[in-house]
Amino acid sequence: MEALETLRTWIAQSRRAVFFGGAGVSTESGIPDFRSDSGIYKKKYPYPAETMLSHSFYVHRTAEFFDFYKTVMLYPDAQPNAAHRVLAKMERDGHLAACVTQNIDGLHQKAGSRTVYELHGSVLRNTCERCGERYGLEYVMRAPGVPKCEKCGGTVKPDVVLYEESLDTDTVNGAVRAIRAADLLIVGGTSLAVYPAAGLIDYYRGGRLVLVNLQPTPADSHADLVIHGKIGEVLTAAYGEA
Ligand code: NAD
Repeated sequence: MEALETLRTWIAQSRRAVFFGGAGVSTESGIPDFRSDSGIYKKKYPYPAETMLSHSFYVHRTAEFFDFYKTVMLYPDAQPNAAHRVLAKMERDGHLAACVTQNIDGLHQKAGSRTVYELHGSVLRNTCERCGERYGLEYVMRAPGVPKCEKCGGTVKPDVVLYEESLDTDTVNGAVRAIRAADLLIVGGTSLAVYPAAGLIDYYRGGRLVLVNLQPTPADSHADLVIHGKIGEVLTAAYGEA
């Protein structure tokens, strides 16, 4: 396939590529995305998922929030898949400068990636809203109902960016710097529907914008290369097993 050949060449030539990804990167690890046919948004809950993952829902219906969050957002046994492994290898080999991810599952780091900008935070980090004490994922999972701080009794909030909350400035700045400097931008496994995150790809200035996604995205029309396929398979075909 000609597109794969081009991607293979571009990766081999790159020294500071950036990967920008979303939930589709982790579906091959068994974590459902939001907007595919098998995604979370197609399932029925008492309120739309976007509502249940909003800041106001967290504040006003905290118990329901944690019930939903623990049921649909936490996959403690998920393991990195081929996409995560290939990206980690690309970084080790000096081709990839950073992964910018909308995912909150920590799988890029688990696969060995070192420079990862987590635009929407991570389920692995949790902080007491009152005293700032830090907790891991296990603590939140084991807590019955709303997790409470064992030091002060405050609510332990996941370090995850909810709808209506703003992104962390340092994380965004780091991602923008990496994307601006990129000699290749591979965008994969994202519907590019969630803003402001999706808008960050507009900072790319080069002529090698690659889109790898199962479904079409709004950015397909101005990409230099579009591959509709599974991200793990495509990256493996373009770079080899990792
Ligand atoms: P999305 O659900 O809106 O879109 C996922 C896209 O990935 C879809 O277009 C789908 O066609 C594509 N896709 C699914 N599996 C794929 C595969 N194997 N290979 C290639 N493409 C594949 O996801 P989004 O754009 O990331 O936005 C959803 C928001 O929800 C993000 O903020 C994200 O943080 C969050 N989320 C995160 C996780 C996670 O951490 N794993 C899971 C679900 C949702």
